[in-house]
Amino acid sequence: MKNLWTGLVVVLLVSLTASSINMQQISHIPLFNGSDAYSYLVDQCDFGPRPPGSDNLSLCRSMIAETFESFGWDVTLQNFIYNNTECVNIVVKWGSENNSPIILGAHYDTRPPGPSDPGSGVGANDGASGVAVLLELANILPNETRSSIEIVLFDAEDSGGIPGWDWIQGSTFYVSQLSTDRRDSINAMVLLDMVGDINLELACEISSIDSLQDSIWSVAYQLGYNDTFIDVKRGSITDDHTPFLRAGIPAVDIIQYPFPSYWHTLEDTPEKCSAESLEIVGEVMEVFIVEEADNLPRFPPDPPILFLMSAIVLVALAIPVVYAKVKRD
Ligand SMILES: [Zn+2]
Repeated sequence: MKNLWTGLVVVLLVSLTASSINMQQISHIPLFNGSDAYSYLVDQCDFGPRPPGSDNLSLCRSMIAETFESFGWDVTLQNFIYNNTECVNIVVKWGSENNSPIILGAHYDTRPPGPSDPGSGVGANDGASGVAVLLELANILPNETRSSIEIVLFDAEDSGGIPGWDWIQGSTFYVSQLSTDRRDSINAMVLLDMVGDINLELACEISSIDSLQDSIWSVAYQLGYNDTFIDVKRGSITDDHTPFLRAGIPAVDIIQYPFPSYWHTLEDTPEKCSAESLEIVGEVMEVFIVEEADNLPRFPPDPPILFLMSAIVLVALAIPVVYAKVKRD
């Protein structure tokens, strides 16, 4: 009997310690500037629609690469052919031999006209917003934290359903090229997609890894952004984080869902986005990287539902047995 109570007390103490670690105060004051991020968003849209293989995308890619390089980062281009189209992922590292534990991603292409939609036009929110946040992050992150991250901007994310095309081709190719060692060295992949809407509301995307998501959402709450990073699970989305999940790499998709009404229309323009929304997401990512990168655990995969159900059944079966024993004692 005594042992049972001692065990319960230990479990209680361990859970209390764990939750107090989670709630430790943030010491880093964010430097992320939403207005600068917004100007990077407009710069991309100024090139016009940027579907895979287009001259507009090629010009935009050069601008993005030069901007990262001007902040001191190394940029390499990863070329691949899909549907007879030359596609290019942009890989950004702090030092060329860097094996950083965190990958930050966004797609930089825009959706061309589809069979039943006009495409996303200049793709201010769907495409440019995630890239804009990553450009500003690359500018303001303290030097000593930069080698913790690798930034990858994916091509060919958004052409699914168009004859000859599927979704998420840039990220699929990127993951296919990772060595086993490199896969094992990645603790977290965080994807930013459609994070610029004026009325930004980010629910917890269902296919993402819970523990990684919790870690980011808890930073958002400590910064007071509960209205933007909401504590609701919503939508299981095929996106550039999906190939990472399939490869066993913990990944999270930070995305607005349900999608805004102008999604995949020509109305996806810079006026639909705001510097404030980009700043909220940018600050959360900045603090997450500065405060968590060094002691980031390898986030475990979510337990399969069958395992959870068996655990619940076992506990339910054990209760009457324990109760009977307690009564006897
Ligand atoms: Zn899209």
